[in-house]
Amino acid sequence: MPSPFLTPGTRAQPDNIALLHLRRDQSIPTILRTQDDECQGYKEGKVTTTRFGVFPHSTMLDQPWGSQIAASKVDTGSRGRRPANPAKRKADELDESGTTTGVDDDTPVQKAVAAASGFLHMMYPTPEAWTLSLPHRTQVVYSPDYSYILHRLRVRAGGTIIEAGAGSGSFTHASVRAVFNGYPEEQQKKRKLGKVCSYEFHEQRAGRIREEISQHGLDGLVEVTHRDVCKDGFLLGDSETGSSPNATAVFLDLPAPWLALKHLVRKPASGGPSPLDPSSTVYICTFSPCLEQVEKTVRVMRQLSWLNIEMVEVQDHRIDVKRERVGLETEGIRGATVFPTTVEEAADKLWAEEERAKILRSGSNKNLSPEETAALKEAEIAITESMKPKTSTPMYDLGRLVHRSEPELKSHTSYLVFAILPRDWTEEDEQKCREQWPPSK
Ligand code: SAM
Repeated sequence: MPSPFLTPGTRAQPDNIALLHLRRDQSIPTILRTQDDECQGYKEGKVTTTRFGVFPHSTMLDQPWGSQIAASKVDTGSRGRRPANPAKRKADELDESGTTTGVDDDTPVQKAVAAASGFLHMMYPTPEAWTLSLPHRTQVVYSPDYSYILHRLRVRAGGTIIEAGAGSGSFTHASVRAVFNGYPEEQQKKRKLGKVCSYEFHEQRAGRIREEISQHGLDGLVEVTHRDVCKDGFLLGDSETGSSPNATAVFLDLPAPWLALKHLVRKPASGGPSPLDPSSTVYICTFSPCLEQVEKTVRVMRQLSWLNIEMVEVQDHRIDVKRERVGLETEGIRGATVFPTTVEEAADKLWAEEERAKILRSGSNKNLSPEETAALKEAEIAITESMKPKTSTPMYDLGRLVHRSEPELKSHTSYLVFAILPRDWTEEDEQKCREQWPPSK
């Protein structure tokens, strides 16, 4: 089944991950299920309980993505039963989103929740939405940073990227879309798919990300290795005799990235294969919160022949852009405006409003003849016309354009160090090149 992260299709299918969108800043990730040990044969399938009500998954399956789903009003009696499996029960109760699934609804709170008849929107997952809703096990890379990083690393369909450490998998999901995207479904079988080779030395985190990758339908596109990359490098499988990922891009989100750089060379000291693609330039980015770390990284990069070394900080400022109309003299306004710009203009508008009210009052109290009604209408039209703006300039284009940027940075970002390693160039390559020169017409 294709991953809903990559090819969501139009409707939600069983076992798809869906994001249940409650508010602008709150979504709950859930795997849509009708039959598993959490459902225990309930006919409404798994149930997600939120502060906006109770949502049986049977009401979401086969609905178009983006649908508004109403909370269930019917208490089937089975909804509140606790899963028999104690591990599942614990996981439900610890759900970090503040919601519960399949929890007893005998308590007053649960009864109140069950009575609530709210709604939510069922969205297909994107890396950006996943970053905002994933269970945080570590600091994560956010979309303003990873969109820039993936662009600078030239990560594209069919490429291979090394990522360490995997952490909470935020960057992993963004990079898997980058190495996969662009292949229409019928071509996916024929062409070489890209791959994310992800390394993590914390055993539980490595296990958790493996589970998530599988639940999200991304098996085969991400290979998670439990490894200390500073010590054991980046080969796939065995750290000494394993195969090369043949990466063209590397992203290091580690406390000491400079210690891993010795493995990212064309000819490793161990004599084993290089993890880098020998036929391609390799692009690297390291992500470090302090300048001291940057300095150490840059020093080692220079020693290991990395070129074009550059540091960037992505500053995520919100810029408010709007047109200011209040208190402007006429010079800020193009043509006559809807808004009074002088005291005289304001007084005229007030007068026109009063006249209109007078006419309406006089008309509503009397039985008017058809001629009087027609005259009244005419007068009202004339006043309404006089109040209309004397310009064809649309509303949005009136006033002076101003922008203000937020004084504070909302998200803490790190320092990004970028560099490139030119492709390997041997005597044979030089010889081949000479033989092929000039190129035949
Ligand atoms: N980029 C991740 C994301 O977007 O979710 C977050 C990475 S987190 C800040 C850093 C991770 O690196 C931690 O999970 C840590 O366990 C892992 N790590 C630290 N040193 C490592 C090493 N030598 N080898 C592999 N992983 C390492």
